[in-house]
Amino acid sequence: MIRFEEVSKAYLGGRQALQGVDFHLRPGEMAFLTGHSGAGKSTLLKLICGIERPSAGHIWFSGHDISRLKSSEVPFLRRQIGMIFQDHHLLMDRSVYDNVAIPLIIAGASGEDIRRRVSAALDKVGLLDKAKSYPIQLSGGEQQRVGIARAVVNKPAVLLADEPTGNLDDALSEDILRLFEEFNRVGVTVLMATHDQALIARRNYRLMRLNQGRLHGGQSGQ
Ligand code: ADP
Ligand code: ADP
Repeated sequence: MIRFEEVSKAYLGGRQALQGVDFHLRPGEMAFLTGHSGAGKSTLLKLICGIERPSAGHIWFSGHDISRLKSSEVPFLRRQIGMIFQDHHLLMDRSVYDNVAIPLIIAGASGEDIRRRVSAALDKVGLLDKAKSYPIQLSGGEQQRVGIARAVVNKPAVLLADEPTGNLDDALSEDILRLFEEFNRVGVTVLMATHDQALIARRNYRLMRLNQGRLHGGQSGQ
């Protein structure tokens, strides 16, 4: 599903964020990406969804080499990926419904399709009754669930999450992780960056540990 071959990333004027990273994430796998702040976790996720380009090496997504994608090709890649951020990036002046509808509107879905799929996504995260609310009226955990509904509304093959529980307490973090597990159970490939050791210690998923841009452990899928 996702394959990195000797991938390095140096930011302009910055230092090397990733060095010689190799791994293969198989379709339907669920894995955690760990490491200290600055280890390169966000950079690795941004490379997968085309926000950044590698300085060296190759990245394969579903059989396509995406290492040197043209800007015009990025939207096609994005449509196959649901991205979840720590601070959820919700539009605060739009309703929950409208926030979740955004990816479908961008993809040019019909009105009927949008209604059906937004309702289905909100139902999956348990927020159907909050469709008309505004993000500001929701708790932190609920806001993150809106971010997840928006990420899955397009039925992407892959979910990438960057510290999705970073602002949440333990119980809410568990809820969010259980949601990811439900999506994984129906075949979605999940890669989640986190430094929450307690959260991942209770589970037995593949761990990919980044240390100063180098990947230790978890290079090959099981
Ligand atoms: P993490 O997500 O593990 O905290 P990042 O991928 O955000 O790590 O950062 C890895 C390294 O790359 C850090 O040294 C960081 O300062 C640097 N970096 C990240 N983004 C940029 C950028 N846009 N420009 C320059 N340097 C960056
Ligand atoms: P998946 O896990 O979705 O099956 P893979 O990463 O195994 O995807 O790759 C699927 C296809 O991508 C391969 O059959 C091949 O066509 C292409 N591919 C992947 N890695 C390479 C590579 N190193 N060189 C050439 N083609 C590759």
